[in-house]
Amino acid sequence: STGVETKEFQTEIRQLLDIVIHSLYTEREIFLRELISNAADAMEKLRYTQLTGPEVKDKDLTLEIHIDTDDTTHTLTITDTGIGMTKEELVENIGTIAHSGSKEFIKHLSAKGDQKDLNLIGQFGVGFYSAFMVADKVTLYTRSYQMESQSFVWESDGVGSYTITEGEDLSRGTKMVLHLKEDAYDFAKEETVQRVIKQYSSFVPYPIIVNGQKVNTVDALWIKNKNEITDEEYNEFYKFIANAHDEPLFRLHFSSDAPININTLLFVPKENLEQFGFGRTEPGVNLYCKKVLIQEKSPIVLPEWLRFLRGVMDSEELPLNISRETMQDSALITKLNKVVTSRFLKFLDGQATSEPEKYKEFWEKFNFFIKEGAANDFTHRKELVKLLQFESSNTLPGESVSLANYIGRMKEDQTAIYYVNGPTREGIESGPYLEVFRDKGYEVIYTYAAIDDYIFGAIGEYEGKKLISADQSDLDLGNEQKDRSELALPEEEIKDLTEWIKEVLGSKVTEVRESKRLVDSPAVVLSPYGTNSMQRMMQLMNKDS
Ligand code: ADP
Ligand code: MG
Repeated sequence: STGVETKEFQTEIRQLLDIVIHSLYTEREIFLRELISNAADAMEKLRYTQLTGPEVKDKDLTLEIHIDTDDTTHTLTITDTGIGMTKEELVENIGTIAHSGSKEFIKHLSAKGDQKDLNLIGQFGVGFYSAFMVADKVTLYTRSYQMESQSFVWESDGVGSYTITEGEDLSRGTKMVLHLKEDAYDFAKEETVQRVIKQYSSFVPYPIIVNGQKVNTVDALWIKNKNEITDEEYNEFYKFIANAHDEPLFRLHFSSDAPININTLLFVPKENLEQFGFGRTEPGVNLYCKKVLIQEKSPIVLPEWLRFLRGVMDSEELPLNISRETMQDSALITKLNKVVTSRFLKFLDGQATSEPEKYKEFWEKFNFFIKEGAANDFTHRKELVKLLQFESSNTLPGESVSLANYIGRMKEDQTAIYYVNGPTREGIESGPYLEVFRDKGYEVIYTYAAIDDYIFGAIGEYEGKKLISADQSDLDLGNEQKDRSELALPEEEIKDLTEWIKEVLGSKVTEVRESKRLVDSPAVVLSPYGTNSMQRMMQLMNKDS
């Protein structure tokens, strides 16, 4: 009863295979990720069946993925103890019924010219066929979990047809033998296979054993319960995904089911490399669906100003076959992005109170990102502004105040938040702008960065209090009635003096007038726009362009 049946591949699959076999690829090692992900899926299904359904064959078999390399026969063998396939399933799943994504994928590939990026193959639901990027013959042995199942051998060179033969008495699961093409012999080397697994499949939730040795020590931590994870495990995981050697400054691990299913593990690194002039930091959060990697270092799952974060986002609600193109404008991604961003900002806000020292360190290193967000991200601006910290006339050097702190200690008659821009504390305090505020006992925020002024200008007010630049010429602090000193000049002389000064300065000034704000200094230069901030804003723009 070992008759060989030969069957034709369905048309679209034949077209797909034709491209897979005959093109040059940039990242063909991803075939291993696809086959490991299929093995893991098969075991996931078995686990589910075992939990919910009837008795399964070989119920004591451990759920493991074995990968064996043979450098002399140039073969790579991937074995799983998953759900396996019946003959009908073999025919349907591999060869006959093209996943709805395959047509789309063929179109995608055809549009790409000679160098084809096959990385997306799994996302189109046709990952199995990536085996033919490296193999000129694939032999697959499989036995279904069903008690009455038989063993089958599927074999093909990927050209036109495949055969199915009844096999020897196998144990449950699937074994795939890849007979490597000559230019792919490298994949029969243990080091190569280990490297590829490290890169793509470290977080597969089943042991991966290469030539008898377990290689994936790192678990899918983000799916686990927080109280089952040690600090060491978190740190190891961080070092792995962030390619870091030190420990993270903060970590946030949270799961939620509403408004969207999400498992997230985020880390703030110890250092901000942008601060050290390393150039722009690339985003570092990977997107998963049920532990299967959908997009590495995703540029869209979080806003740009969170590019310093490292970690993982995993949502069951993402369709596995989502392509990057459709992901870009997926409402689901937008929602994920918003939920996680808000949650992270809430976390930071909490840390500011619960761990002020650590938050201070965070603020010193990463404040620029938060400010960038506050300046550009309208969706989260309110939450971001809440996190801003500033030195002020009431703080010691190096200490800071948030806008909420500031409001909390405003003078009774004070109605606005005042700030003044200058390069340093000394610069600001030796200038004339603070005099009137000192006199009234009002706290003044010191903004050392131009972006601070930009943000204040953009938001205009906070919690109903206007944000007013102290170097504004039309500043009205209700000082008009302040007693004039006996030494003050009579009105007439003031008029003569200001006219004379205007004459001397000519077009360098637009107006000279008596000041109501000065206490000790004889004169102050003011601008309708706020001189300092304007200048610094221009500097900032020039620097950026
Ligand atoms: P996808 O994994 O997105 O469904 P693939 O092309 O990778 O697409 O695989 C096609 C189908 O082949 C799978 O859905 C599954 O039914 C079957 N399959 C592939 N590999 C295995 C395996 N190791 N064990 C059981 N079934 C498998
Ligand atoms: Mg697959």
